[in-house]
Parts: sequence; structure tokens; C-alpha cells
Amino acid sequence: MKLSIVLFFIFTSLSTAYSHSGRKTAAKKKNTLKVTSQKIAGCVHMIKGMGGNIGVCSSKERLVLIDTQFEKVSKKVNRVLRKISKRKIDFIVNTHWHGDHTNGNKFFGKSSHIVAHENVRKRLSEDQVSEFLQKTTKALPPKALPIITFKSELVLHIGDEEVQIKHLPSGHTDGDSVVFFRNSKVVHVGDHFFKNKFPYIDLGAGGSITGFKNNIKKLLEIIPKNYKIIPGHGELANYSDLEKFYTMLNETIDRIKGLKNLEKSLETIQKMTLFESYEGWGNGFISKEKWITTIFNGLK
Ligand SMILES: [Zn+2]
Repeated sequence: MKLSIVLFFIFTSLSTAYSHSGRKTAAKKKNTLKVTSQKIAGCVHMIKGMGGNIGVCSSKERLVLIDTQFEKVSKKVNRVLRKISKRKIDFIVNTHWHGDHTNGNKFFGKSSHIVAHENVRKRLSEDQVSEFLQKTTKALPPKALPIITFKSELVLHIGDEEVQIKHLPSGHTDGDSVVFFRNSKVVHVGDHFFKNKFPYIDLGAGGSITGFKNNIKKLLEIIPKNYKIIPGHGELANYSDLEKFYTMLNETIDRIKGLKNLEKSLETIQKMTLFESYEGWGNGFISKEKWITTIFNGLK
């Protein structure tokens, strides 16, 4: 057999094996994925599954959901949600447009009112292409889009609970909001905060390095120190976790800024030993290399 034919057979059998095992792993992941809930305080619960953390405010009169994860896990999320409340969902709030926070709108949005910043509706209405992640997120169907939009702030009165939704200017994207539960003393901060992990700043969707940092500074000013903090990803956090995150932002951004000012290239910076005190922070969605690239590309 000629070498090229042998190589062809090796290649095809390898790729078949790879795609089969890939499919099997995905199916296994889907079936074994655990969706769990945790009572936080007052009316607030947190649901973890696949995607951004879901916040729930359940009172006798109303049921509100903050973000919806992916549609493929919606049935599992719904089973867990039904243990918290049997009510229909009155409102869904989307903290921003990313699919891991909004794709489940297709399932939960059928019988609920979706609320979000006006830029979230705009972005969810059209396909979104991310060069950084090399993927396209399809537009959502009309029934899964926010039907109540706002520019800066909106309050939902849920029984005794005041649910205050505040827009943050360009940071993680151009349409982020944080959601305060004033009586329960809890805040859901969306993807402006990954607990003990480097964050994702979507520069292609209106995100900004400086804006992101300023938003965290602002959050540290407006979040009372005794509030519990639900991050976009990761375990339940508190004020000092957010302070630690802010220190990391300042240190890592300043370091890259300094190197960029010395006219070091991104390739050179990637080869350097950096951020040793943030061991483990790159084990999540954003690796250390991706974080360096984001800062480098995002700094003006
Ligand atoms: Zn996000």
C-alpha cells in the first residue's frame, strides 16, 4: 500500500474514533450533569447547572428568575426550580446576552415576561459572531427575547422584596446589569465577577478593560459589606471575595500595561512568567493566556 493511502486510512479511522468518543462524552455529560439549588437568604436561591448561576426570588405572590442557562438543561433546571416554587415564573431578568445566561429563555420565556437592558434585546435579536471564541451565537426566536427593556435602572416589586436592576456601562459586554434583592441583602452581579477566576471581557460585544475595572470599583462602593454575592460563575461569594477580585484586576492589568508601554509584543509577554500569585485563577473558562491576550488587545 502506498504511504498516502495508509495515511488516509489512519487519518479516517482516527477521526471517526475521535468524533464517536466526542459524541459519547457530550451525551454522558448531558445525562450526568447535576443541577443543584441552594437557599441564599430571604426570597433568594441560587441554581447551579450548565452555564451562568441562576438567581431565584420566590415569594408567595411572585416568582422571578435571574438568567436561564442553556435550553438543553432547562428541563433539569425546571425540576429543581419546582422544588422551590410551584408558581409560574412571573419575570425573567437577563444579566446580559451571552448564551450561557439566555439560551434557556427558549424554554422558560414561553410563559413569562423577560426583562433586560435594551442592548441585550438588540444583541439577542441578531446572530452574534465572536472572533475571540471563534463561534457564532444564533439569534433567539421572538418569544425568547426580552419584552421589557430599560436604559439605566428598573425595579420589580415582588411581595416584600424590592428587586432593583441596575445597568453597568460597558464592561463585560455593553448590556450588563446587576440585580439587588434589597430585603434579602443579596446581589447577583452577572459575569462582572467570576469567583477566584480570571474574567471574560467580551471586547467584540462592547466590553471594555477600563470599563470593567471601573464597574467593579463602583460595585465595591454600592454593595453593602454584609450582602451575599452571587457571581456569574463559581460558588457563592462575599464582599471580600469581590475586593480580592478587584486587587487581581488592578495588578494584572497594570503589569500588562507596563510591559506594553515598554513595547513588548504579545508573543514575548506570553512567554514570560507572570501572575504567579494568581495560581489556579486560569483554570476556568479564561486561561492565563486568554486573560493576557484580552488585556493586551483591550488596552488602548
Ligand atoms: Zn457572559
